[in-house]
Amino acid sequence: MGRKRKRVVHNPKKRLPKFFSCPKCGKETVVVKISRESARAIAGCSSCGLNEEFSVKPAQTEVDVYCMLTDKVFSSPKKKEVSNAQKKN
Ligand SMILES: [Zn+2]
Repeated sequence: MGRKRKRVVHNPKKRLPKFFSCPKCGKETVVVKISRESARAIAGCSSCGLNEEFSVKPAQTEVDVYCMLTDKVFSSPKKKEVSNAQKKN
């Protein structure tokens, strides 16, 4: 007797990745939460404690917020990219 096996593998909608990789510590522990009512989003890393708040437009998604986060982290003046390649001449 063959049993009918219905595979319940439905993927109703394509979901965004839940976690983004952190621009600061490199782990995939960044979560973006968007609050549509207040048009704000919070991106936070549970690993290194990075936490930033952004204002979002209705069309913007978690990915956009994540981009803003990386922009912010990478543009922060912690280390200027000065070349010390020409130290020695
Ligand atoms: Zn981190």
